[in-house]
Amino acid sequence: MQPAQGAAAMTQTEAIDEFAAAKLAQLDGKSLRRSLEATERGARAHAWRAGADLLSFCDNDYLGLTQDKRVIDASIRAAERYGAGAGGSRLIAGECPLNAAVEERLAEMKQAPAARLFGSGYLANIGVIPVIAGQGDYVLLDSLCHACLHAGAALSGATVARFRHNDVADAARLLENAPSSRRTIVITETIFSMDGDAAPLAALNDLCDAHGAWLITDDAHGFGVAEIENPAPVQMGTLSKAAGAYGGYMCGPQSLAELLINRARSFVYTTGLPPAILGAIYEALAIIRAAPALGEKARSNARLFARLIGAETPAAAIVPLLVGTPKRAMRLSSALKEKGFLVGAIRPPTVPEGTARLRFTFSAAHEEADVRRLGAALQAAMDDAA
Ligand SMILES: *Cc1c(COP(=O)(O)O)cnc(C)c1O
Repeated sequence: MQPAQGAAAMTQTEAIDEFAAAKLAQLDGKSLRRSLEATERGARAHAWRAGADLLSFCDNDYLGLTQDKRVIDASIRAAERYGAGAGGSRLIAGECPLNAAVEERLAEMKQAPAARLFGSGYLANIGVIPVIAGQGDYVLLDSLCHACLHAGAALSGATVARFRHNDVADAARLLENAPSSRRTIVITETIFSMDGDAAPLAALNDLCDAHGAWLITDDAHGFGVAEIENPAPVQMGTLSKAAGAYGGYMCGPQSLAELLINRARSFVYTTGLPPAILGAIYEALAIIRAAPALGEKARSNARLFARLIGAETPAAAIVPLLVGTPKRAMRLSSALKEKGFLVGAIRPPTVPEGTARLRFTFSAAHEEADVRRLGAALQAAMDDAA
């Protein structure tokens, strides 16, 4: 077939380039373009970027374990013993024995009958939800749930609805008017990633009991940081935040953990975690179990900062400061960087339109004096911007 006249003038690469460049220009125009910055992380929450020594208040390394010598050494030992990569999926290549060791330790710590590891928290959520729910089912999510929970719900093929953030009455209204379905699932987070508040888990669980629904939670920002009473029978989470390594998990009934091996596409059709990561997780879990004071230190740093800026008391280690427009968030974030602090500017679509914010995260690696200096720097940046 002859290419159409004119269209032939552009190669595929040129056409794709034109398409992508136009999309980027749109994002630029709205101050919504994102970019990557080479940043070297080190002990005590230090981060080096473009030659500047900064203190990080934007990562999820809540316990400082990414830089912990014990965790790093365990990771090296595991790589030396088992190799650099898994070599294949856990089902086909046969799995590194560290997988089962980590799953057992995790289940114990979460007081769950069983645990199943995934390649990441994202992969856990998009894998588990479609195993539990499918066409003819009804999935109800908190409107502020993480993108990968929404993605998992969409992938499941179930009818999906969102209830207003942490609003049990709204969830109840939706359940009362639910379409008839085989199964009904309610999904929320324990600690919300961009707001730092806690879900009303007991009330949601009672609601599920009353409607024959099943509660599923994502504990990404709670695990290792906050002791949370969580009655949900199925609990997902990540090992890339407080646990300082990488990977995701589901904790729940043994039969479900077995079913995931058979049905979760993001488990079956992907490579197992590298031994170095498994070794790091195994050691990090031991540290978390032995030292609950680490989580308490991260939380007390967050509480101190919230007091300093007059914000609500945080449920874990995240304190948001809503500033309105993406431009304002970016400007305050760069003012703080000039004063030596790395703080994330969070913009739509990560958060709802009109709620761009600075998101401060706290760690056991911060000292109280660091938090006080950050509070003073923020005050100065806000005064300058006013
Ligand atoms: C970070 C996060 C995830 C994703 O976890 P990864 O291990 O980074 O893929 C999932 N859910 C929530 C709520 C998160 O904050």
